[in-house]
Amino acid sequence: MEKKIQETPVDTHPTFVLAEPPQGGLWDTVLDQLDDVAHRLDLDPGIHAILRQPERELTVSVPVVMDDGLIKVFTGYRIQHSSARGPCKGGIRYHPDVNLNEVRALAALMTWKCAVVGIPYGGAKGGVQCDPSQMSENELCRMTRRFTAMIMPIIGGKRDIPAPDVNTNAQTMAWITDTVSMLERKTVIDVVTGKPIPLGGSLGRKEATGRGVAIVTAELLKRKRKKLADTTVAVQGYGNVGSHAATILNQMGCTIVAVSDVSGGLYNPQGLDIASINGHVTAHPQHLLEGYAARGVAKINNEELLTSKADVLIPAALEHQIRADNAPFIQANMIIEGANGPTTREADEILDNRGITIVPDILANAGGVVVSYFEWVQDLQCFFWDESEVNRNLRRILVRSFKEVWDFSREQGVSMRLGAYMLAVDKVASAVRDRGVFP
Ligand code: NAD
Repeated sequence: MEKKIQETPVDTHPTFVLAEPPQGGLWDTVLDQLDDVAHRLDLDPGIHAILRQPERELTVSVPVVMDDGLIKVFTGYRIQHSSARGPCKGGIRYHPDVNLNEVRALAALMTWKCAVVGIPYGGAKGGVQCDPSQMSENELCRMTRRFTAMIMPIIGGKRDIPAPDVNTNAQTMAWITDTVSMLERKTVIDVVTGKPIPLGGSLGRKEATGRGVAIVTAELLKRKRKKLADTTVAVQGYGNVGSHAATILNQMGCTIVAVSDVSGGLYNPQGLDIASINGHVTAHPQHLLEGYAARGVAKINNEELLTSKADVLIPAALEHQIRADNAPFIQANMIIEGANGPTTREADEILDNRGITIVPDILANAGGVVVSYFEWVQDLQCFFWDESEVNRNLRRILVRSFKEVWDFSREQGVSMRLGAYMLAVDKVASAVRDRGVFP
């Protein structure tokens, strides 16, 4: 007999209240930054107006039959900020705080990021407002497949190519690939990046964002005439970006003194044993630091991590972690933004006045999208590179981009953030100008 869905009122599960997108937050930060840069570049007001608004926004409802047979309806978004420089590109995030304005902001950051590192993409982002820690693998699979079907009209290898972000991974990308392939009745591998290797993923993609963070950290240390072996590092967020950044910097000779995730943090001024922490995280059912203990390691909370004694601070969790209330107490004199938008505008000003050098997100965490670009190129050609080629090309692009931003910022007498934004917005504005306004 056909299995029937239980007849109960929809959404009997505790759910998130969908309100108007909150004012303020990262979207306001992104617009303020754009307005400032537009003024400095003396940008044409029409082009400025185009860049202030995403090109296309899609909000979808995503009904999912949960494991207990009840239906829960989630809200998802896919937002394309700009396709002026090429197909849109950006991750998909699963998190309770996902909302329209956050996705808008993250889409715009992708536009600037692709421009600053000179890869031929525009910017997009997607997300589903959900709490994946409370969902089973099967529920996540069904949600991903339905979300994919709902956003399918606007994604595709030449239109908009999603990738992993917070709480999504290679498995999520595999479900998207399969769903699109089933619905299109052919194998479609160029629709997402960050896929498992057997499905057309790229070697080096998983580590790419963290590797990029490590590469730009090394470039900054070189400019500061500081040796890697004399450098201490604190990392907030021990997920994909943070754990790989910590591991690679540790392999390069840095001492990692503090790490944290949503379950809390660890601190050892003599240096943490990153290999043993990675072993613990891999074995933990939710891949958390929780429960790790070793001699000389103190438990700290996330606020303590941000203000701990280290030369380099790498925020690699979520946005707006460094704010006006904690910025005055940050001890690091270099901040490498692994996360997107981890610093508020007010905090940015405080840190700038304190002479702390910040490598901005759109440069610091661009390694992921650069290797996503390599994955897409390999998929289109059905010709796959070995890992050393991926890493060599990643390094080449990031070292060149870092130099461009560093030199330009010094010439202009502005922070690296402002320099990176000025270079990026100028490139996107040129593309808009060259293409003209259709029709
Ligand atoms: P992830 O889900 O793998 O990891 C996020 C980590 O942050 C987890 O360890 C989680 O426990 C921790 N975390 C969450 N809330 C926290 C809190 N309040 N305090 C401390 N830690 C907390 O996600 P990810 O892919 O590593 O992404 C992290 C950041 O990097 C995000 O801002 C994301 O947009 C950005 N980013 C990711 C990529 C990528 O390739 N994955 C690329 C560019 C930028």
